[in-house]
Amino acid sequence: MRARPGKPPYAGLTDVGRVRAHNEDSVLMEPPLFAVADGLGGHEAGEVASGIAVSALVDAAPSHADAKALGRAVRAANRAVISAAREGRGREGMGTTLTAAMVEGTRVVVAHVGDSRAYLLHGDVLERVTGDHSMVADMIRQGTLTEEESRVHPNRSVITRALGTDPNMYADTFEVDASPGDRLLLCSDGLTGMLTDERIAEVLGAYGDPEMAVRMLVDAANEAGGHDNISVVVVDIEGESASTTPARSHRGWLAVLVWTLAVAAVIGIAVWGTYRYASERAYLVAEDGVVVVYRGVPGEFAGVSLSWLENETTITVGLLDPVTAGRLGQGIPVEDLDAANALVEQYRSIAEARSGETDISPEGP
Ligand code: MN
Repeated sequence: MRARPGKPPYAGLTDVGRVRAHNEDSVLMEPPLFAVADGLGGHEAGEVASGIAVSALVDAAPSHADAKALGRAVRAANRAVISAAREGRGREGMGTTLTAAMVEGTRVVVAHVGDSRAYLLHGDVLERVTGDHSMVADMIRQGTLTEEESRVHPNRSVITRALGTDPNMYADTFEVDASPGDRLLLCSDGLTGMLTDERIAEVLGAYGDPEMAVRMLVDAANEAGGHDNISVVVVDIEGESASTTPARSHRGWLAVLVWTLAVAAVIGIAVWGTYRYASERAYLVAEDGVVVVYRGVPGEFAGVSLSWLENETTITVGLLDPVTAGRLGQGIPVEDLDAANALVEQYRSIAEARSGETDISPEGP
């Protein structure tokens, strides 16, 4: 689906078709901004309207893919078309559709007025991003007409919203989370009036090179009759993530906060648990030659000592057997203070016995 190395990942083409004398469509490819406009008004006025709309869109477009801001840019383009007609450029009553998209990585925003469409091809599934502002589309939504019937309906080209007449006109806006490898299509009704969505999906998916894809789509519409001007813009969605969008970064902050709290909670529970554990334990250790009892645990945890002096005995470590004396040098942990006191009594009796032994044992000659 990707463009060949060295070629841009997008392409566009506008063609007069096989019936009309003029091409009143305009296409725009100024990444990240892309647009298709289908002018109305006849006598070349449609061409003026679509051209003014596209250049006003460029002037008013936001610098980043922001759907609402792109919608405002379409409204600015509407005012530009209305002003132009009043100033005598083109004709009074001229108008145009406008379907604009901004593509930043996998983030796609669309602003749309009229019956030019935006589609997204994902794998071999072609999804319509926009909903036509047209009489037949309203009838389909109301259930009084089928998609199939709309293709031959006499009022199929009557649009219900356009740039150039109503100063209060607004654009529909869309935000799409595309995937790398997806393909965005913007097109005028000269394509969709001639080809079904199934056929569009087939041709769009058959050519990896976007330039080839737009050429083959225009050719297919012409082969099907070319009743109207045909405009096609194809943009391949590349691999960059959409993580720089404000909405995403907001969620990012929330995630960081949640994780920080979770980690703090885990550390808090660990510290509290360790403290609880330590405060209930006890140990015996040799200090200054005597046995000393501490509540807590020997050593330090994260630089913090968790022990409290409980009892300095008079038991001389040197009177105990060498193995016990060695263990006392490092500290002998026990279950609790009761166990510590029991062990102290045991050592005391051993020491006293040894001390007595020493006292009564006669010195060698
Ligand atoms: Mn058209």
